[in-house]
Amino acid sequence: MFPGAEEYDVDVAVADREVERLLSTTPDDVSAASELTFARNVFVPLTTACRYTCTYCTYYDVPGEASLLSPEEVRERCRVGADAGCTEALFTFGDKPDDRYTAVHDRLAEWGYDSIVGYHERACEIALEEGLLPHSNPGDLTEAEFRRLREVNASMGVMLETTADVDAHAGRRRKTPGQRLDTIRAAGEARVPFTTGILVGIGEGWRDRATSLLAIRDLHERYGHVQEVIVQPVTPNERSPFDAPSTATMRRVTAMARAALPAEVSVQAPPNLAPVGDLLGCGVDDLGGVSPVTDDYINPDYAWPALDELRAVAEAGGVPLHERLPTHERYLPERHRRPGFDDDPAPGRWLHGRVPDALADEGIHGARFRGVARRDGPLSV
Ligand code: SF4
Repeated sequence: MFPGAEEYDVDVAVADREVERLLSTTPDDVSAASELTFARNVFVPLTTACRYTCTYCTYYDVPGEASLLSPEEVRERCRVGADAGCTEALFTFGDKPDDRYTAVHDRLAEWGYDSIVGYHERACEIALEEGLLPHSNPGDLTEAEFRRLREVNASMGVMLETTADVDAHAGRRRKTPGQRLDTIRAAGEARVPFTTGILVGIGEGWRDRATSLLAIRDLHERYGHVQEVIVQPVTPNERSPFDAPSTATMRRVTAMARAALPAEVSVQAPPNLAPVGDLLGCGVDDLGGVSPVTDDYINPDYAWPALDELRAVAEAGGVPLHERLPTHERYLPERHRRPGFDDDPAPGRWLHGRVPDALADEGIHGARFRGVARRDGPLSV
């Protein structure tokens, strides 16, 4: 039982022998991927209000200082992103603002919303109207909230970070592993293509890293919904007491991720935070969302590499670079996959509400989505 799990409807099993197997895994035990993928996105930091105060985080702002993008600002960012050829609107959040954020709640009420979830739904509709596919990271959600938001999201995500109870999740209000695991479970129940990951260097140990990866695998084996697992190093910043993990640590934990997860689940390294070139041999096959038009608001001190730098990384690793949609190919309807795609398509229907319509749209945005999905569209780095 993981810390906090008793409060939630989640029962994740991790066998000790599997943990031991992972603990003995090294980079020599895994194969390099045969290709690298990325998604072209525009960041939309919907609100910086967060009910938590994780000690490594520079994203959240305290009450009175937290931002909330207006519908017009959301639309403008999405328009700029679509014009730049992005396919993904990456909605970033704190976790649901609590009662201390009165200004945020008042502003939402002024705009006619009784919760951040309702406003988030509208913001995703705006992104779809402007020609982007929303991928949202809205913190912990219930299954009912996933079912509501899946109607306007191509995929969603939340970082597990770790199954350990670490001091980095400090304060009276602290997120718990049980809560995060329950969010991943709820996404699976709602059939949402999902991104999660671990954060390396926040006080967890090697056994915790192995356990975290196996917990993700357990949930994926039940629902089949985890499309990618991010292996993210913590980054030094003015709030964080943590040093960045060494390249050797990142290589070992990346290899553990590759060994823990089934082949259909991508292992992702963020190219502005991790030594990607040193990790390609450890099983990384995806670089996540990369933005040609906006900063990484989660890690503002760490600029995105230009797209031609990504190509250079791929070339140095001897693998091709491909652009993808926020939804990985195996979750797309068959008509939008590449001809002959045989990489274990996920059975059943994964896209909901307005998202299939956006993919099938006859205009320039639908054509761009389909071109990227089939790999005969934009890339031209
Ligand atoms: S890491 Fe996420 S949950 Fe923690 S304080 Fe930052 S925004 Fe909030």
